[in-house]
Amino acid sequence: MKKKVLPLLLAALILAHGTAGAWGFFGHRIITQVAVYELPASMQAFYYRNMAELVRLSTAPDERRNDDPTEAPKHFIDMDHYSETDPFGKVPQQYDKAVQKFTADTLKKYGTVPWVILEVKNNLTEAFRQRDTINIVKLSAELSHYVGDAFVPLHTTINYDGQLTDQKGLHSLWESQLPERFINDYKLDGEPAKYLKDPLAAVWGEVQRSYGFLGETFDRASKIEKVMKPDVRYTFSHKYGKTTRRYSDAFADAYEKSVGGMVDYRLKGAPTMVSSLWLTAWQDAGKPDLNAMMHPSKPTKEEKEKLNTELASWKKNTLPQDQLLLAQQKAKKVEVADEIKSAKDMEMPPAESTEAAPAAPAPDPAAPAEPAIDKLKVKTKGKNGTEKVKQKGDAPQ
Ligand SMILES: [Zn+2]
Repeated sequence: MKKKVLPLLLAALILAHGTAGAWGFFGHRIITQVAVYELPASMQAFYYRNMAELVRLSTAPDERRNDDPTEAPKHFIDMDHYSETDPFGKVPQQYDKAVQKFTADTLKKYGTVPWVILEVKNNLTEAFRQRDTINIVKLSAELSHYVGDAFVPLHTTINYDGQLTDQKGLHSLWESQLPERFINDYKLDGEPAKYLKDPLAAVWGEVQRSYGFLGETFDRASKIEKVMKPDVRYTFSHKYGKTTRRYSDAFADAYEKSVGGMVDYRLKGAPTMVSSLWLTAWQDAGKPDLNAMMHPSKPTKEEKEKLNTELASWKKNTLPQDQLLLAQQKAKKVEVADEIKSAKDMEMPPAESTEAAPAAPAPDPAAPAEPAIDKLKVKTKGKNGTEKVKQKGDAPQ
């Protein structure tokens, strides 16, 4: 990747980084759902009972970014700011030591995702100790979100949207367009959860792995750019007097052939880390009886059967084909526009997937770092036939 950038431009780009999302809502939801399947039986009934809520809340950290100025840096870490040759040797893994070396302000500026993951994990341990089921669900979902972010290579670099290498739009292509377009080809049968003796080191290991994929992330896009003409490479759309550009489906298809395996590898790896952190928090809290926190306390026959069906489908890698992914089911609902009476009637905000609204405007490259969803407005028909325009901000939180 190209590295020479004017410091001023760099500062502006880092500010913009504040709104970067990861995986799109689609990916975060998949990671959270699959993590439930990877849990041991002693935890699984509770998590399965709460799965829809976990999946729903897994996107909350992205949803509150616009309202909470402290939120943005929690989703990334720009390792190449610290060193282009050996950033992982430069940045101490322990937060306190990193603060001593670089100051808290600098860490905040360039992102804190590994430490945030640890903080949420520790809060989750405390919630288990308190038998606080509401917080167990909320913090488990948020832990899943931040871990998911750490698995995205573009969340470990200053060049998070390819903006420094003339590849603007790469972020949403990698984390949203590819998974949404090719989920049927991806394998999601990850490893079962295991106890992490040193969670912080494990998280740093994954950040480093993400960083290791950056070269290929950019280079393979460059290779396609060399042979694909710009008019084929991009899709343009015009809305409210603004022209927006995103990578075309043709480009996505070519890019998928080249990096799809990597995207799948990260999408499949994240749930294992998520479920392992859930398990570690639970074990560190002294393994409280989760079944006793359920009302009714035992899984019903129906729940057991449903879970078994889903586990079998997950192991066969046919969750998308069997229409068992929650992320996908919600998206499917939206395709039938007449079904939507009002956004507020929906249990979940319906418009998070670009797939859900194929005619919707493309993400705005002028503000590339925002999750694609923020740019989507889905036209729905009210009962009386009047058109309503649903914006993401209208959705119930
Ligand atoms: Zn995020």
